[in-house]
Amino acid sequence: MGLDSNAVRARMVQKLAAQGVSDARVLSAMGIVERHRFVDSALANQAYEDTSIPIGLGQTISKPNVVARMIELLLGGRADASGKLGRVLEIGTGCGYQAAVLSHVATEVYSIERLRGLHEKARENLRAFRLANVHLLFGDGMVGYARGAPYAGIIAAAGGESVPGAWIEQLAVGGRIVAPTVMPGGRQALVVLEKTPSELKQTVLEAVHFVPLKSGIA
Ligand code: SAH
Repeated sequence: MGLDSNAVRARMVQKLAAQGVSDARVLSAMGIVERHRFVDSALANQAYEDTSIPIGLGQTISKPNVVARMIELLLGGRADASGKLGRVLEIGTGCGYQAAVLSHVATEVYSIERLRGLHEKARENLRAFRLANVHLLFGDGMVGYARGAPYAGIIAAAGGESVPGAWIEQLAVGGRIVAPTVMPGGRQALVVLEKTPSELKQTVLEAVHFVPLKSGIA
């Protein structure tokens, strides 16, 4: 990897487009962020494959098309004058990859991780990229991060039994939450919540397989 990773990423982006990702901002961000720098060097050759990858402490990084699909849902065609979404909260920083992708489509990214080891790993991984709009936080994301609220978007990288009330409270009117959530029957599905002035509109989409959303820090 290295010199030719641009070409490998370009192929990944072509594949994402063929799989139905159409927001140009998402495709561009996926083409920019060097995914192989976020995984163990022994796994770097798999970084652009359509596969999830272990990132340590029993956690995984989602496959590229799940990352792209969720960010596309988060944007939902919305943009400010700069073409970006406003402030975004990510629950589950993991290795920091998705936070880096988000930094190219949102004005500010607040990303919270409950495992200190991964929070530190993400800090290390992201250092070289110098992304001034990414704010890494160590804590329990189930309570959100009130100081960055209200958010134009909240995206969860871990699946809970329901969408925590704090996320809904910290969401701006017109904002969207994209969160893997356990459905009655026990399977996880991708849930999109949209906050309008009068209601919270819920859409349940395809089945997904995320690590569990857990409370507390470790
Ligand atoms: N977006 C990440 C994927 C990380 S996997 C990436 O690009 O690498 C999901 C992460 O969610 C795990 O690191 C897990 O520790 C974290 N997580 C689970 N419950 C959490 C919570 N309540 N608050 C913050 N992080 C949580």
